[in-house]
Amino acid sequence: MSSFFNNPKASLFGLDDIMMLKQSNKKDSSNMENSNIKDINSSKKEQLDILRNSFSNCNKCQLHETRKNIVFGSGNLETRLMFIGEGPGAEEDNQGLPFVGRSGQLLTKMINAMGLSRDDVYIANIVKCRPPSNRDPLFEEAQACIGYLRSQIQIINPEIIVCLGSISLNFLLQPDGKTKLGISKLRGTWQDFYGYKVLPTFHPAYLLRNPSKKADAWKDLQLVMKELGLEQPK
Ligand code: SF4
Repeated sequence: MSSFFNNPKASLFGLDDIMMLKQSNKKDSSNMENSNIKDINSSKKEQLDILRNSFSNCNKCQLHETRKNIVFGSGNLETRLMFIGEGPGAEEDNQGLPFVGRSGQLLTKMINAMGLSRDDVYIANIVKCRPPSNRDPLFEEAQACIGYLRSQIQIINPEIIVCLGSISLNFLLQPDGKTKLGISKLRGTWQDFYGYKVLPTFHPAYLLRNPSKKADAWKDLQLVMKELGLEQPK
């Protein structure tokens, strides 16, 4: 995983900062002198605004050539739960918001079924610009972009990350691209991302094509609910 974290241009913050912030959130924020975060007291919104502005003209990968909008992410900055998809589709590219097309409507229903709303969670993607024709992001595109997501995770600092689909799972947990993690095998099993609990499940787009798999996805989300102490629906 080291190559992933050794891409200084792809990230404002390093792994040490992620771990330090996680520890400081559990204990106190007094030992942040060495962090790249200049002002630990700045709000999450301020930190995310800095991050967003840092790549508002990003051209680090070829996806910048065809995008209409960079889709940064949206939701509750104080959330305990973050969803990560693979990349924007056409509607997301038009609106500059994640998961607002058909897949997004299903994701909203999934979140609602957990007793939550989209305002309770934060949603982002592996790549911030739309891959043409909704193809999967290429390895080099994901590598160029994922540092932004890593910084978002660091700032938002959720308790649980739900990876939506194979692309999200693989580029978050196996960013060197050497080993392919199977979503069918790993869905519903807890994974670790430097101290963050990660639960992979199926991507809503896959569920739209394979509605029989919705029951499995619901079982996965119930695991998340249990971990968060949310009341299970009767
Ligand atoms: S996908 Fe990410 S790295 Fe590529 S141009 Fe867009 S913001 Fe930059």
